[in-house]
Amino acid sequence: MKRLLPVLLAVLMLLSCSNPLMDGQNSHVNIFIYPYLEFTEEENEVAVSVVEGADVSFISIPSEVMINGEAKPVTAFTGFQNPEDAEKLTALYIPAAVTIKEGALSNSPNLAKIELTDVCEGAVWPDLPAPQAPLGQHFVGWFAGESEINPGDTVDPYNAKIIAVFEKHTLTFHEEVNSTCLVQGHEAYYECTAEFCGKLYLDAAGINETNLESISRPLSDHVYTGNWESDALSHWKRCPVCNNEIEKSKHEPGEWADCGTCWERSCTICGYKETDNHVTHRLVHFEKIEPTCTEDGNIEYWKCSVCGNCYIDAQADKKITENETILAKLNHEWKTEYANNETHHWKECIRCDEQTEYEEHDWWYVFSSDGNKVSVDISCSKCEYTNSEQPPFSGVFDVSLVYGDIEVTRLTANSWKLGISEGAKSEYSSCIWTNYKGEEICSSSDIGFGPIEVTLNSSVDADLLIMCTLTKTDGTTVTWYVQVSA
Ligand SMILES: [Zn+2]
Ligand SMILES: [Zn+2]
Ligand SMILES: [Zn+2]
Ligand SMILES: [Zn+2]
Ligand SMILES: [Zn+2]
Ligand SMILES: [Zn+2]
Repeated sequence: MKRLLPVLLAVLMLLSCSNPLMDGQNSHVNIFIYPYLEFTEEENEVAVSVVEGADVSFISIPSEVMINGEAKPVTAFTGFQNPEDAEKLTALYIPAAVTIKEGALSNSPNLAKIELTDVCEGAVWPDLPAPQAPLGQHFVGWFAGESEINPGDTVDPYNAKIIAVFEKHTLTFHEEVNSTCLVQGHEAYYECTAEFCGKLYLDAAGINETNLESISRPLSDHVYTGNWESDALSHWKRCPVCNNEIEKSKHEPGEWADCGTCWERSCTICGYKETDNHVTHRLVHFEKIEPTCTEDGNIEYWKCSVCGNCYIDAQADKKITENETILAKLNHEWKTEYANNETHHWKECIRCDEQTEYEEHDWWYVFSSDGNKVSVDISCSKCEYTNSEQPPFSGVFDVSLVYGDIEVTRLTANSWKLGISEGAKSEYSSCIWTNYKGEEICSSSDIGFGPIEVTLNSSVDADLLIMCTLTKTDGTTVTWYVQVSA
């Protein structure tokens, strides 16, 4: 492809085809400058387009252009390289032999005049754009004088200028129509009765265009009447407009009532009455349902749906009360042994997943001694869960003697005085005395506090465990265990 960019100089030569507007001159050479046109040669076609940024309200296309010193006929007009530039175009002068490519003029709403130049015999009008009409008007067509021009019409060489003709819409008013449950209504609107237009508008000036979808109103609800219709099974209302059944549902019968000669009940919605002569009971069978911890069950029984009597047999021989059909709920029954995990214990129901007594373990320390060293077993006093983790401990187990840094002195058969050895006091900054549950007896940051006295209630306890947690001056702690026995 060869591009001639931008062609500033193009030579228009009048050749075999004479232009009648040139006063019949046959041999004539014109030179024009087209600073806004670009010519593109590709195979046998020389296409012309309007360069980007061209500020033109009319365009004049030459019939020939000089390419490499050779005159080539222009064959096609492809429009504006930038569609925005096309808006200003009002008039086009174009040789009859140049094809207007599809879309070449589609962005030119203001184009009101097209003039064919260099009209050869047999030339016809090309496809022409439909320009955008001014507000309130529609485009009627392209006219050469009084004659409307259509694509394919032969060009009259003496009247090759056509003009876009517009006229006001011929609007017919359509009143608003309400919807029914059958037919959609619409808002009020105006319709242009011109066959080629047919556009719809909201206003009498034909400015605010609309369409059927926008002005349509939704179908309305059915018309509800208060009257019920019914058959043996159901009741419904009927819409008088579309005749459809609406609100259809099954009867909701009330209780049977004994009216002497028969039994009667009515639908609580529509009042539809059923009668039953009740010659025999209408028995409904109920399967046995086992009670659970929380829900009542029932025995197997039969109940008459008319008189409401209950029977333990399908022959309705042995009558029972409704209460007698009930198997009372069982309530939970708790296992005696605990279930447990590392931190908690609880009791489970023998029948269901329910739990009770969910609580933390009650840790119990059991000390034993080989005479020289204490070992501790920690287990829960309730569920016997054993803690495999041994607490750090130290100390010597021997009643009424010195336990490491703890001095034990027996005061009576059941009471002892516990204190920290005089020589060890300087090693510690504080001390906490606790019982076997870790409950504090007393504490002191003053390591010189007086010794504590503990008393064993021998009618309750066989022995007593005291723990003394001492904090060393470097922050580490040491725990001494003292077990005193009666
Ligand atoms: Zn119209
Ligand atoms: Zn209806
Ligand atoms: Zn009913
Ligand atoms: Zn009955
Ligand atoms: Zn249970
Ligand atoms: Zn436990």
